[in-house]
Amino acid sequence: MRVIHWFRNDLRIGDNTALAAACRQARALVPVFILDDALLDLHREAHPRLRFLYACLGDLAATLEAAGSRLIIMRGAPQRCLPALARACKASLVTWNRDYGPYAKRRDRAVRDALEPDGVEVRTYKDRVVFEGSDLRTIQGKAYSVYTPYQRAWWRRYRVDPPAAAPAPELPICIVGVPADMPSVTLGRNAVSASGLWAGNGGVPPDTPWMPLGRDARRDTTVLPPGGSKPAHERLDAFLGNAAYRYHVDRDLPAVAGTSGLSPYLRFGAISIRECVCAGLALAAAEPEAERGAVAWLNELVWREFFFAVLDAHPRVLKDEFRKTYTTLEWDEDADRLQAWQAGMTGYPIVDAGMRELAATGWMHNRARMIVASFLTKDLHIDWRAGERWFMRRLIDGDSASNNGGWQWAASTGADAQAYMRIFNPSLQGERFDPGGEYVRRWIPELEGLRGKAVHRPWTAPLESRAYPAPIVDHGRERLIAIARYRAVHNGGRRPAG
Ligand code: FAD
Repeated sequence: MRVIHWFRNDLRIGDNTALAAACRQARALVPVFILDDALLDLHREAHPRLRFLYACLGDLAATLEAAGSRLIIMRGAPQRCLPALARACKASLVTWNRDYGPYAKRRDRAVRDALEPDGVEVRTYKDRVVFEGSDLRTIQGKAYSVYTPYQRAWWRRYRVDPPAAAPAPELPICIVGVPADMPSVTLGRNAVSASGLWAGNGGVPPDTPWMPLGRDARRDTTVLPPGGSKPAHERLDAFLGNAAYRYHVDRDLPAVAGTSGLSPYLRFGAISIRECVCAGLALAAAEPEAERGAVAWLNELVWREFFFAVLDAHPRVLKDEFRKTYTTLEWDEDADRLQAWQAGMTGYPIVDAGMRELAATGWMHNRARMIVASFLTKDLHIDWRAGERWFMRRLIDGDSASNNGGWQWAASTGADAQAYMRIFNPSLQGERFDPGGEYVRRWIPELEGLRGKAVHRPWTAPLESRAYPAPIVDHGRERLIAIARYRAVHNGGRRPAG
């Protein structure tokens, strides 16, 4: 049988559930990736993430080529591309790994509906997560909306039902022609090395009809990590061999390389989540000194699954507040303040350092993400959706489930969110989590001259730097305004007296 495997957010060969299933059944396998016009349109400004995606695709193409296969890349609507490809290569089965966002679910139904009339079977698999939302339910049979009981249920289930890794497949080779009316390209190692298209970690690949980037992509100077499965595994090994031992302490210190940095690889499936969980558990079991750190890390992977489950059960969160009480919250529209936040020019060093790290690398430390998100929503009173959009434009790990979950957590509107009266004080956050000021000085050269904690309150320093802005708002004042606004929605829209 000829089988098409449709690669999506699973850009790897090893431990890939749907790919392994396809290879078990196929006499010939046709691997395809589709540049979906609708998604490209949605993410056309997300140059760093698109470039990282293309680097991962190049790595996948090279791996397939080394195994004697070829990755076909098509561009268009998947519900048109896949039936055309199935007809052209006479495939009778299409496999893919499931996704949980509302667009993906709609699109996948449309693809299935387009394939089945031609007699092409579709089989889909769980791969992006260890447990799907539907695997874990409360005793009332509902989706979890609070993390701690979800986490307990996750581990209970894991103990009785640990998922097996899919064996690395023997790829049944099949090189097929692609339909003439479809813009497509077959990528192999020769194409990769001959054109140097994919060497571009740091360099921007040229804009071609099949590898499109937005207009300003060439000016994007974000320095990206290398894409692909090998660098992902190197990162996992390096993390588990070292930083994992102190993860429970260092994970909150943005100046320290104390986290795995695996989020962009998990985002595109360059590494398998099962593999990460198994490796973390193996370390915890083998090394008592690593146990606390490894367990804390594993529970972060569970947060990732929690947010997938929330999005799966409540797709409306991409538009609205998870907690409906807050849909009437008052937000300010202030283009200048939003722009200052985006540019890392708010005058609060820890906020600006985070935003500048994002601009330079396409990634931001989790502690900094929480601080900048709190600042936008509670100090500038700007709608969390504006922050969510900006992150989706800049983050290489930008993922609608985790990003929406993170933003709604910070805005106190989400599932198991931060209580609204607990508002981060940016100076105290800086002093606590960047006590030596290294993180701030790394990203804000204007403050290089300030030593230690003084860097978090440059306005009080005698050697005040003229190039760095004064705070654009007064935190103490804005905190009270934020609390009043949240209280008002609890009081049915009425501002509290006084
Ligand atoms: P590690 O600390 O090594 O954690 C390992 C993995 O666990 C991560 O790679 C990630 O997959 C997962 N993880 C860790 N923390 C979280 C978390 N709080 N929520 C969900 N998953 C988590 N993460 C994304 O992957 N994509 C996003 O778009 C995203 N947007 C965010 C927006 C905001 C406002 C906030 C507060 C957090 C966001 N996060 C997002 C979560 C988190 O910041 C990143 O996953 C983490 O910083 C990635 O770094 P790491 O790989 O070194 O993480």
